[in-house]
This record gives sequence, C-alpha cells and structure tokens, in this order.
Amino acid sequence: MTFMQKDNYATKIAVIGGGAAGMMAAGTALLYGADVTIFEGTDRLGKKLAITGKGRCNVTNNCSREEFLENVTKNSRFLYAPLSALSTEETICFFESLGVATKTERGKRVYPVTDKAKDIVDAMRKYSDGATKIFKKVSALKLVNEKFIVTADKKDYEFDKVIMATGGKSYPLTGSDGSGFRLASKLGHTVTELIPSLIPIESSSALCKDMQGLSLRNVKIDIKDKNAKSVYSDFGEMMITHFGVTGPVILSASARIRDYDISTLTLCIDLKPALDEKALDARLLSDFSKQTNKDLINSLGALLPTKMISPFIRYTGIDERKKVNAITKEERKTILTALKGFEIPLEAFRPIEEAIITSGGIDVKEISPKTMESKLVGGLYFAGEMIDVDAYTGGFNLQIAFSTGYLAGKSAAEY
Ligand SMILES: Cc1cc2nc3c(=O)[nH]c(=O)nc-3n(C[C@H](O)[C@H](O)[C@H](O)COP(=O)(O)OP(=O)(O)OC[C@H]3O[C@@H](n4cnc5c(N)ncnc54)[C@H](O)[C@@H]3O)c2cc1C
Repeated sequence: MTFMQKDNYATKIAVIGGGAAGMMAAGTALLYGADVTIFEGTDRLGKKLAITGKGRCNVTNNCSREEFLENVTKNSRFLYAPLSALSTEETICFFESLGVATKTERGKRVYPVTDKAKDIVDAMRKYSDGATKIFKKVSALKLVNEKFIVTADKKDYEFDKVIMATGGKSYPLTGSDGSGFRLASKLGHTVTELIPSLIPIESSSALCKDMQGLSLRNVKIDIKDKNAKSVYSDFGEMMITHFGVTGPVILSASARIRDYDISTLTLCIDLKPALDEKALDARLLSDFSKQTNKDLINSLGALLPTKMISPFIRYTGIDERKKVNAITKEERKTILTALKGFEIPLEAFRPIEEAIITSGGIDVKEISPKTMESKLVGGLYFAGEMIDVDAYTGGFNLQIAFSTGYLAGKSAAEY
C-alpha cells in the first residue's frame, strides 16, 4: 500500500543510520510516499541487529504497554506515543507480514521461530528496499535555506527532512561510534551523559581469574552495599570471566545499580537457592557421611562444578587436603555460609564500548514524543538508541528502536 502525498511531490528524506530504527523509519517513510535515502557508515544495513540476542534476536516483548513501560529505565513517559503508533503486538504482526513467524519464550521474550537474527535483518532490509542506499559515513549535517545538507565522503546531498538514527556508542565495530551525537549537538541539541548499561562488571578478585570460563546456572545473586544491605537481587545464569562477571543476571543487575559507586558493592552468590540452610546442612552431612575418608577437595563434586571446587575451598580458608571425617562443625558452617553467599567484590563497569546499551543521548525535552520531530530544528527527527531512553533486557530496546523509527518515518513523510 502506498500513501501518495497530496501534491505528488515526494518529500526527500535522508535517514542517517541503517540500523533497526533507521530501516524501520526508512521503510515507513517510503510507505507514506516519501523519497528516501539511507546513509549507512558501514558496508551493510543492520550490523548490530544481526548479533542481537546471541544471534537469535530477541525482537520484542509480548507484554502489555504498562509492563513494557515498567521495564524502561529512563524517560518511560516519552514512549507512550511511539508505543501507540507501533505496539509490541503490531511489531509481531509486522514481522509475520514480512514472512518471519515468531515465538514467545520465558519472560515473554519474542524470537523468530528459526532462532536466526538474520531473518529479522533480511525482513527489515526488504521493508526498506525502496530507499536509495549510500554506504558512507555522514560527517556533517547543516540546515541552509530550509534545506538539510548532508555531507558524506566530502560530497553534499540536499534533503527536505532528516531522520537521525545513528544508535549509541557501544559496539562501535557495528558502526554506532557516537558520531551522530556530534552531528546533533552541532544543530543545537543537548546530549545527556552517555554511560554504559547492560554491561559486564569488573572484579580484580583472584577468584575470578581462578574460575574464568565458569558458567553458573540457577543461582540467586544479591548485590549488597557496604552496610551489607541488599540493593538488588535476581535469579538466573551468570558467567565468571578473566576480568570479572557477566551473563544475563549480571547484565540486568548493571542497569539497576548504575547510580551506585560500584566499588563499594559486593556480589553475593547463593549457589544453592533451592535449599534453605537447614536442608543444605542436611545435604552436606549426608554427602560427607558417604565419603568420610576422602580429602575435602574430592568430596564436593556433587555440590559444585569441578572448576569451582578448588577456588571455593580456598575461599573458605579450610585445608583442601583435610579428611572429610576431620571437618569440624564450625568448618561445615563455614562451607554452608560460602555456598549460600559466595562473595565477589565488584570494582567497575566495563567500558561503554562493551555495553549492550548506551544510556543517555538526545535530551527527550527537545523532541516531540508525538512525532519524534526536534523541537529545536523543524524537519529534523530522531529514532532509536540515540534518544535518551533505554530499557532492561527482554526485547524492549529493539521495540523502542522500531516504535520510534516507525513514528519518525510516518511523521516525516506525512507532514
Ligand atoms: C551484543 C548485543 C546484543 C543485543 N541484543 C538485543 C536483543 O536481543 N534484544 C533487544 O531488544 N536489544 C538488543 N540489543 C540492543 C539493540 O541492538 C539496540 O537497542 C538497537 O540496535 C538500537 O537500534 P538503532 O537503530 O537505534 O541503533 P544501531 O542498531 O546501533 O544502528 C545505528 C546505525 O547507524 C549507523 N551510523 C552511526 N553513525 C553514522 C554516521 N555518522 N553516518 C552514517 N551511519 C551512521 C551505524 O553504522 C549503525 O548501522 C543488543 C545490543 C548488543 C550490542
């Protein structure tokens, strides 16, 4: 379906950035009759989209608008109109209409049934196919005599309107290197502080180096402040790496603790959350009674992953060669405490380049939420991660890119 514009003059729109938001904006503007050109700084559209969800692409979240907004970390009210323009349900239908069937998994996370992010990328490329593509990085953007002049590779191009969708500052190899923020600030826009979100966390604890590569499933994490007060807890999977900790529960935690001085926080891992202390003590006693003549290091195989046993015993301060039948009641209590609260001191977030999401961006006060148009520069629109809104994991961030991209494309072409 094509919505031709009244006077048959097709508005010339430049979309800067060919990611999730840019392709959605471009395809929608085409649908509303505009003449669209996408400028993409890398050699391909949707490079970041292709690596989302560990290559499976968690494309949206099958939840109500209220639940969605609860998962938005910053400036959630700004998203009412974009989510009305393109809801999560409509996004699922949108992909189905482009031939990508989806499925809903744990936490209402939506994925393509094929588990291939490539299918989402291909669908978005198809949707924006009618746009002219220029695979060059935009180095300047000016407004001259009510026309936008886009400069790429020393060449100037003239447009009626511009949609900026250059993403954040993380994973720069996918093209989102923060250059879009400079272009927008030259036109007078405010860029709020850019910080990493959904980011691995560093710890210099020798424990991490000893256990690097270890994946812990079904653990409960508690992040405690210096007064041992819990500031965040969650249940799920995490990984230990050479630099510290990462994995789903850690990434989610990072978005919730970003206002704390992280070097004052400690990660406490409950390695056996399904057992309370009494049940776990009974389990320990039972395990020990079956292997009384073994060394401690050879007796914890049923309780802990192999890679963790030696560092774990060192953490308790007990001699790993001590015979199980010589373990005292106090030592058993120490083992129990370590199983229920294995502590790793936290130090810092990894650099923004490694973040799943950049928090911060174009100040929402300077963008009309009903159209995505700049309140400072008429004819300039914003979409996606470059706007100062971000959310937790679960498909919310891509939905933000799709909804704001859709609204920007529609508004820019319509008015
Ligand atoms: C590893 C990883 C996994 C993720 N998984 C998920 C997930 O499963 N679900 C989810 O909801 N979110 C996920 N995200 C977040 C999600 O990818 C982003 O929210 C989304 O890609 C933002 O879309 P965007 O179009 O705004 O920006 P991007 O996708 O970053 O696109 C911006 C584009 O602009 C181009 N560009 C930048 N500057 C210029 C310039 N000056 N000139 C021309 N082009 C330029 C870039 O090359 C890039 O192609 C993940 C992120 C990462 C890093």
